[in-house]
Amino acid sequence: MSFATLGLSPALLRAVREQGYHAPTAIQSAAIPLILEGRDVLGLAQTGSGKTAAYTLPLLQNVLRQRFEQKAPQRLALALILVPTRELALQVGESLSELARALAQPLKISVAFGGVSINPQMMALRGGTDVVVATPGRLLDLLEHRALSLGAVNHLVLDEADRLLDLGFSEELQAVLAKLPARRQNLFFSATFPLAVERLAAGLLRNPARVEL
Ligand code: AMP
Repeated sequence: MSFATLGLSPALLRAVREQGYHAPTAIQSAAIPLILEGRDVLGLAQTGSGKTAAYTLPLLQNVLRQRFEQKAPQRLALALILVPTRELALQVGESLSELARALAQPLKISVAFGGVSINPQMMALRGGTDVVVATPGRLLDLLEHRALSLGAVNHLVLDEADRLLDLGFSEELQAVLAKLPARRQNLFFSATFPLAVERLAAGLLRNPARVEL
């Protein structure tokens, strides 16, 4: 299997090459075409499987198409990635930014997490953004400060959904979900699949394609 057969644009294939990736991992081969098609995806994937690029690559392509071909409202966030920890927020934000650097049209990636001052994060959101990576609590704080709007988000990712629940983010998660437009693509990744995670997925996903390793 090669990246070239998965439906990624030349710009994103260049970004993949610049990352030094030669061949897609199993979860990337399975998930990328489904996400490009606009399907909801339920991914059972451990860290180390390449799950991050399995959603960041097609997500960037979907967002690019929307922002620049369909002239989406300037410049409300189109994609939201919810993660449980600051470390994962930074890691996902960094990998998105690296991929985005290889693109002809600049996409703005914003990262927000708690435990640090909110002001620089508010400043960074001025003028709008394209993709937001955030922990749920800080995202709600930013929404309360009217630092961003989720009114145009039509791609949602829950990464490490099991940890989001383990860390007690259930209420914050529901509060964020209530602020999103109903019509959207949902991507749900979890390393484990206990009942609480299954319920969360069932409430969120529409006719999901299941991707397992
Ligand atoms: P993840 O499972 O998303 O945390 O990724 C684990 C590591 O694998 C990261 O360091 C990625 O940069 C790397 N990686 C992801 N996809 C590929 C690939 N197709 N080829 C080589 N390395 C990859």
